[in-house]
Amino acid sequence: MSVELLAKPVVDAAITKLKNEVSAWIKRGVMPSIKVLLVGNHPPSLIYTRNKKRFIESLGAKCEIIHLDQAVSEQEFLQHANTISTDPLVHGCFVQLPLPKQLAHIDVATLFPAKKDVDGFHPDNLRAMVTGNEKQGLMPCTPKGIMSLLRHYKFDPKGKVAVVIGRSMIVGKPMAMMLTNANATVSLCHSKTQDLSRFTQNADLIIVAVGSKDFLKTQHLGNNKPWVIDVGQNVVDNNLYGDVAYETFTKCGAITPVPGGVGPMTICSLGENLLQAVALCQEKSS
Ligand code: NAP
Repeated sequence: MSVELLAKPVVDAAITKLKNEVSAWIKRGVMPSIKVLLVGNHPPSLIYTRNKKRFIESLGAKCEIIHLDQAVSEQEFLQHANTISTDPLVHGCFVQLPLPKQLAHIDVATLFPAKKDVDGFHPDNLRAMVTGNEKQGLMPCTPKGIMSLLRHYKFDPKGKVAVVIGRSMIVGKPMAMMLTNANATVSLCHSKTQDLSRFTQNADLIIVAVGSKDFLKTQHLGNNKPWVIDVGQNVVDNNLYGDVAYETFTKCGAITPVPGGVGPMTICSLGENLLQAVALCQEKSS
């Protein structure tokens, strides 16, 4: 059977470190603070923001959700974004997506200054990633969390063959870039990829971020026991499933469970980004 790459030990260790850092900032008179713009009552968004708030507050930091009506005007939405951007007592901010139709055209990546962009989507942060200077920017939470998980379990991507399935801006594309920075040889696959198995069967590491239960099947895997990172979150009959079919587990060297794998790592990265944002904000204001 494959080894399960559980997030819990990694998150537990990170929480202790984050709590210490938060209390060190508080002793210096700085309360680490994050503000979230949430529009409407999209059920998954309500759950995601509530969980993020709970996690940030458990660190001793502050998290406020600015919950706006589904019909909020563009002007009012932008006013809130501007207030958050310029408030020196706010260090991190993000917009919970999706946005309703009347706001969908807004470029949320440039809504807040790069140093407060705890989602890691600002062009300056993307530039830091693309140029291989990840430490100089804030990195997107899910791929950042996956890199932490790999580090914890001593998987060095250097020289490995990695396959990322899914090319979203929040997971697949930055994941491929961060693995490239870590010296893996990376293929980025998507719905137009022909013969996916040609890639996955030779992989040492497979990251699946498609959003389809049982997407990755036994026939996709070769005999080299790849490590598999399951990013998928699929709710079926009120149960949460990843993208990897259960029978595939015997062919993996190691695999992240769903729940209990990438999800908690993502939230943990948000805490790390907040602390990095606090340091950046203090640096710029001193
Ligand atoms: P997304 O925007 O939903 O896009 C899905 C990606 O899968 C697209 O790039 C699509 O290709 C690709 N795809 C679809 N069918 C495919 C096929 N047959 N073969 C190969 N690729 C295929 O992606 P996302 O936002 O990254 O979300 C993916 C999953 O991860 C969802 O279940 C989401 O809930 C989950 N997620 C989890 C976390 C976490 O913290 N655990 C965070 C973010 C997302 P095209 O580009 O060609 O359409």
